[in-house]
Amino acid sequence: MQRIDYPPLIQELIRQLRRMPGIGPRSAERIALWIVQKKEARPNEIADAISKTVSGIRSCVRCGFFSEADQCAICADQGRDSSSLCVVEQPTDILSLERTGAFRGLYHALGGRLSPLDHVGPEDLRIDALLRRVQEEGLHEVIFALSADVEGEATLSYLGDLLVREGVVITRLAQGLPAGSGLETADELTLARAFSGRTVFQR
Ligand SMILES: [Zn+2]
Repeated sequence: MQRIDYPPLIQELIRQLRRMPGIGPRSAERIALWIVQKKEARPNEIADAISKTVSGIRSCVRCGFFSEADQCAICADQGRDSSSLCVVEQPTDILSLERTGAFRGLYHALGGRLSPLDHVGPEDLRIDALLRRVQEEGLHEVIFALSADVEGEATLSYLGDLLVREGVVITRLAQGLPAGSGLETADELTLARAFSGRTVFQR
């Protein structure tokens, strides 16, 4: 006997929804049925927002944060302290720090951290762009806000060696961040304290 499944269009929709993070087979099916059955909920608006975001959002050419123009709102803000640069792993870390209100300088997202086991080397990160900024933007201080784990330490060590020749003050966030985790898991107060207690990076 032929096994009856949803029509191909719905099956394909479920397959596509399952590609999203955190969406398992049951959730994908539930969302697909909601889309099909609740047309008054205007699912087309969701499709529209997805396609507009995909085509309209890019990485800021300077810092790597999300932007609708070449430069993001932070880099374009003339009121920020352009003498200090905070280096983070991911663009989402920039938002974590912004929400603390502890920092008014500029950012640079590396796009990850050095991790030989995951085959992430220096060429996979925005390190050349960082060096160029340090050389060209007249920075006084470079603050490292990387994860407090082995890869974060290795990345800091590697970049510290590179930047120490450039004549900038190199600092890192104070310990007190939970070991072994990223910035996104720290609450705002912990992060703000770690920021204001940053220490000079010593070789
Ligand atoms: Zn930017």
